[in-house]
Amino acid sequence: MSTSRNGSSAAWDTQIMPYADRIVASADRLVAGGAVLSHSQHGNISIRLPGGDRFLLTAVGALAEMTVDHLALFDVDGTMIEGSIDPTGNEIIQMHAAIYRRRSDVGSVIHTHSPYVTAWAIANEPIPAAYEALIRFDITEPVPVADYGPRGSERSVTNILKVVNDTNKAVLLANHGVLVFDDSIEKATHLVYILEEAAQFSLLAKLVGGPKDLPAEAIEQARARAAEFASRGTVRAGQPVPAAD
Ligand SMILES: [Zn+2]
Repeated sequence: MSTSRNGSSAAWDTQIMPYADRIVASADRLVAGGAVLSHSQHGNISIRLPGGDRFLLTAVGALAEMTVDHLALFDVDGTMIEGSIDPTGNEIIQMHAAIYRRRSDVGSVIHTHSPYVTAWAIANEPIPAAYEALIRFDITEPVPVADYGPRGSERSVTNILKVVNDTNKAVLLANHGVLVFDDSIEKATHLVYILEEAAQFSLLAKLVGGPKDLPAEAIEQARARAAEFASRGTVRAGQPVPAAD
């Protein structure tokens, strides 16, 4: 394996490469969204590998011009297996690793400073589950706020885990940004967009009477759908996807 400028591996083996490519596609999609990222395009993206105990993570501070050479491979305990990482990236490894350890259903974790979402995080205010698109992605409860802790510190990770339950898919990091997680990287990437919309619309709704709760039956339907999906278990790469009823 050759080594690139930044010291990371220049190519991943054929088993890992498709996952590296999916991270690059996710970064490109978020960068293409323009306003879904903060001006610095700061963010980090990870994907869990088959077998469940390793993940690939972007090893640079910004998502622009991402390539497979900008990734590093970690164990879910946060130990680096291969590659190298910027000092700024080093702070965020445990944030991703902790989610993978806590939630076996999670296949991808994304961290951004999406502007409207981060406004709620800075206000230490949960984003209400009031935007209909959220429940289509099975977000039926307010997106909680993890109390502030210095980036990547043990306190920050402990605070994140306090508000991660068995089903939620996003956590606001107080005075900082957001963590989004889902079973696939494509869904997590899309969820970054949906959450930014929800944050923007709910903020605007405060000017015209405030966000209102969705009807209870809409929430119940979404929860039933999520429970049915969960009962089928996680579909791993290489396994057939169960047919919908
Ligand atoms: Zn950050």
